[in-house]
Amino acid sequence: MANPLTPDVLLDPVELTRALVDVESVSRDEKVIADCVEDALRRVGHLTVKRLGNTVMARTKLGRGQRVILAGHLDTVPINDNWPSTVVDDLIYGCGTSDMKSGVALALHLATTLPDPAYDITYLFYEAEEIESEFNGLNLVAEAHPKWLQADFAVLLEPTFGAVEAGCQGTMRVRVHTRGRRAHTARAWRGVNAIHAMGDALRRLEKYQARTVTIGGCTYREGLSAVRISGGIAGNVVPDECWLDVNLRFAPDRSEEQALAHLREVFEGYELEVTDSAPGALPGLDAAPARDFLGAVGIEPAAKLGWTDVARFAALGIPALNYGPGDPALAHAPDEHVEIGKIRDGAATLYRWLAPASDI
Ligand SMILES: [Zn+2]
Repeated sequence: MANPLTPDVLLDPVELTRALVDVESVSRDEKVIADCVEDALRRVGHLTVKRLGNTVMARTKLGRGQRVILAGHLDTVPINDNWPSTVVDDLIYGCGTSDMKSGVALALHLATTLPDPAYDITYLFYEAEEIESEFNGLNLVAEAHPKWLQADFAVLLEPTFGAVEAGCQGTMRVRVHTRGRRAHTARAWRGVNAIHAMGDALRRLEKYQARTVTIGGCTYREGLSAVRISGGIAGNVVPDECWLDVNLRFAPDRSEEQALAHLREVFEGYELEVTDSAPGALPGLDAAPARDFLGAVGIEPAAKLGWTDVARFAALGIPALNYGPGDPALAHAPDEHVEIGKIRDGAATLYRWLAPASDI
């Protein structure tokens, strides 16, 4: 296959978005798109290009005082009758248009057309973001080549519809257990009903007042939700076991340890087991490149409510945020699309931020 990412296509982030969408790249099947991206990056002279699996890294080495990372994942969720791309008026439809090949297109367009950025830039086009984190390209790079991730600031071009989303909430899932004693329901007094014993835990959830926290101008709304419950043996048996899965989404001023301590307080008297946990990330917008970025975008950052790879950068000590042209509400949807105007705005903003002063 000839590489569809020709020099002409690389010049236009809209055409580039379409070309990237039309290279199918469902998670674990990113070899072809990674080959195309690597080849496009190697054709320009000003970048050092390296690869790990289906993750491609390219960077400038201009000796600037600070370095920023522009990152995007190459994979998409499975195609849902929405491939290849189509254009209707000023919308591009297709799997990955919003999440996040329009964002990848911005980074690739900059990488190949901006030889002398104001900061040194590391571009990361990585594999397997949409599936279990053991496959995540950023994770693999952090283990195998931590130097590729050295930077003062990172922008993930995930869909935000042109907004700046900083930091992200942490998430923790715990299983609340109750134990009882089995008995025939005809002699229920001989047993202890584990489902009844869960009643108080559910009432605590019903009454729970979630916090709203503002950090660095970003407002985070926490949430504590029961997400699954199970118990019971048969229609005539007092159950001896019941469990309830609860998910806490917590603002990044709490660590995972503090989140767990909070859950232990809420469910005092109950047995708890942590089944899943990921830390949040503080907005961290004090670094000079971050402040310049916010100046170029010209809007105030908002809190990211979901969990994204921003937190992976935060764990490495690199302040990071999300900024991309796609609409996050359309990510993973069958009618996924992106506005052409948002792609052009995004490209113009990134140029404003990264072009050297003499070019503007
Ligand atoms: Zn994404």
